Amino acid sequence: MCIFCKIINKEIPASILYEDEDVFALLDIAQVTDGHALVMPKEHVDNILDCPPVLLSKIISVTQMLSKDIVSKLGAKGVNVLTNANPAAGQSVMHFHMHIIPRYHEHDGLILKFKENPTPELKKIQDILKK
Ligand code: AMP
Ligand code: ZN
Repeated sequence: MCIFCKIINKEIPASILYEDEDVFALLDIAQVTDGHALVMPKEHVDNILDCPPVLLSKIISVTQMLSKDIVSKLGAKGVNVLTNANPAAGQSVMHFHMHIIPRYHEHDGLILKFKENPTPELKKIQDILKK
């Protein structure tokens, strides 16, 4: 059983923020910024690529609700909502989860940088994706 399944089953303690029939949310143990939270399905799915759309919409709804709550109650100025899918994208726990990372200023705990490709092959990629 994965570590998040054990937390959901209450076999491992966690700072639980929200729970319903399908969705579970807790504070991330690492706290990239104050209030960094994780929202996940109770059912084990590896990542967003495997998540049934109906379940995904429940996860997104709770993610929005908690994001608004965290931002207003902790006085954040913004929030990053993201998910990592597979180790190539930085996923370290293979149980789908959304990160809610409240932002207090541009130079707090999170650096997100999009490095521009100098020779993007837009047409080729578009053709593949539109097939
Ligand atoms: P990711 O790298 O996207 O898979 O994110 C996994 C997250 O799970 C990391 O931010 C960890 O800090 C967090 N994490 C790992 N173990 C625990 C735990 N026992 N309780 C809360 N958060 C955890
Ligand atoms: Zn799991």
